[in-house]
Amino acid sequence: MLIDLHMHTNYSDGSYSPEELIDYVSARDLGIIAVTDHDETGGVIPAREYGKKRGVEVIPGVELSIDIELTGAAHLHLLGLMFDPGNVTLIDELAKLKKARGERAFMIVQKLREAGLPIDAGDLANAVGQGSVGRPHIAEILIKKGVVSDIYEAFSNYLSKGQPGYVPKKKLKLAPAIELIHGAGGLAILAHPVSLKCKTYRELGEKIIEMKSVGLDGIEAYYPGHDKYLTKWLVTFAGKNHLLLSGGSDFHGSAKPDVEPGIGRGSLYIPTDLVERMREEKKSRK
Ligand code: AMP
Ligand code: FE
Ligand code: FE
Ligand code: ZN
Repeated sequence: MLIDLHMHTNYSDGSYSPEELIDYVSARDLGIIAVTDHDETGGVIPAREYGKKRGVEVIPGVELSIDIELTGAAHLHLLGLMFDPGNVTLIDELAKLKKARGERAFMIVQKLREAGLPIDAGDLANAVGQGSVGRPHIAEILIKKGVVSDIYEAFSNYLSKGQPGYVPKKKLKLAPAIELIHGAGGLAILAHPVSLKCKTYRELGEKIIEMKSVGLDGIEAYYPGHDKYLTKWLVTFAGKNHLLLSGGSDFHGSAKPDVEPGIGRGSLYIPTDLVERMREEKKSRK
């Protein structure tokens, strides 16, 4: 059995509905997954209900972008796992972020129009489902219109920082984001630590300890973008510093076609027992 604690549905920028995702992973021997959409938990319950029929256990998850001072393309994403998806404070806060994402998407479209691209608000309405809208949705429109050939070109030419369509997004600060997840009974995990773009392990370690001081519970050591050295370092670091370990592929479906559930780009290995460690940690806090 494989597990995967970082997966997107079409409630954010993944290409599969919760039910399609369950069918896809159950055909690939996954037994436990976490649905972790960007600023959105709407996919959790449908995935969980359908997962029961297919023998796939679904852990509630969410991925939050954090407002923090970092250089260049570095960014901080926080995963919330194992929280109560019915927590009203969490739902309200996510609703605000989602609303801001909608407004930002319109601003991006406006800027791209001003840059001479054939795109308008109507295209956006067609591309977006019921969940949270992100830049990959706009990339998809640009691909369909033949403006770019793939999502990577859409980002590097139009959507990344410094490009004509860039608009920053509303984000929570780290401490309130962790508080929000803890308040809903969940665990706060640093997503893909490689994205912090630290130059040395020492620098990365210092950053993680700083985050732990405001409540971080664990780190996503097992991730397709991590080489074996980084993974090993993170696992050792977590052991020494009483941090939980997590792992996931960051599956987006056809939006990131080279990544598969549970195995990432082929060499990802996620130990199944880390779920049990998380459950024990949660229990010990009650
Ligand atoms: P947003 O949340 O709207 O800022 O969009 C960020 C999402 O876009 C990420 O979660 C990725 O799924 C995707 N993404 C970010 N950068 C790139 C890139 N350079 N190429 C392809 N996809 C990207
Ligand atoms: Fe994404
Ligand atoms: Fe992320
Ligand atoms: Zn993700």
